[in-house]
Amino acid sequence: MGVGQMGSRGSESSEPKGQHFLLSAAARRLSLAQIARLDDDDAYALFCGIRWCDTEGEPVCPHCGCLAIYRHESRRIFTCKACDKQFSVTSGTIFHSRKMAVRDLLMAIAIFTNSVKGHSALHLSRDLNVQYKTAFVLAHKLREALGYETTTRTASGVVEVDGAYFGGYIKPTNWAENRKDRRLAKNQNGKRRVVVIMRERGGRTLPFVVKHEAESVPILADRIRPGSVVHADEARSWDPLYYAGLDVLRIDHTTAYSDGEACTNGAESFFSRLRRAEIGMHHHIAGPYLADYANEMAWREDARRIDAATQFLLIGLAALTHPPSPRWKGYWQNGPGARQSATPF
Ligand SMILES: [Zn+2]
Repeated sequence: MGVGQMGSRGSESSEPKGQHFLLSAAARRLSLAQIARLDDDDAYALFCGIRWCDTEGEPVCPHCGCLAIYRHESRRIFTCKACDKQFSVTSGTIFHSRKMAVRDLLMAIAIFTNSVKGHSALHLSRDLNVQYKTAFVLAHKLREALGYETTTRTASGVVEVDGAYFGGYIKPTNWAENRKDRRLAKNQNGKRRVVVIMRERGGRTLPFVVKHEAESVPILADRIRPGSVVHADEARSWDPLYYAGLDVLRIDHTTAYSDGEACTNGAESFFSRLRRAEIGMHHHIAGPYLADYANEMAWREDARRIDAATQFLLIGLAALTHPPSPRWKGYWQNGPGARQSATPF
């Protein structure tokens, strides 16, 4: 099966008018069963087709870019004729040193793709019959690949800005007399963080994580391009945006969600998706992983109108063009980003 074949069916004209996109044929075109039925050779060909999409699946040396190679068919490795180094289809990618079969990796990408509100590592481990730790790292590698460019990208045009708190959950005490106001800073545990979003109208959604909304203003001033129009709500944290030289329109949410000039409904839509992922899927997405989940949900928000087969290819392409991750390599052993404490659930 080639890269182009999975999403190649034409659009079906019998779609009911006004039907939700997720119920349409375009959203169904990625079939997990289709991937599960691939034999080893077809799965490998699809994987090569994604990795080397510019050369229609023909191997390219990751060391020197040479196209002339020797094939060792039985071991599915290659030797470069120019630099004499050996490589495989996953060499130099985020799946470098993989132990999982290629088809299982494709299955993982397909399951991840189809989960529009995110997919928990426990769920993925059951789907693939792999250890929880394996599923956890695999999903995070995909998140890293998807969020790679968002950390440096700038926003322009009409840009909605907003922030929302995540993490730092404190369980209320049983007896009402012992309960404290958990909204107050003195009663919090210091783990709560703010996800701040820059959402271009009709463009990209760019999240980042800070301790307080006010900390985000210099970052916003740096990453929103001059000449852009910023829409923000009435929270006082956003007042300094005026002094940062940005053209700012405010919407007072106590009056309306949109007044015809300013609205942050696009940003709210992103937070709705991230909140649903937190509550309904992962339960806790705080701490060092919050930015990863925010990046994943930003990608899903931007890709929500792209058919599932194309999303599958985009996620596969992001993973297979992303270099090995220092953070996730050897995460459960002794790698540079190795986790020191117990399993995080
Ligand atoms: Zn080479």
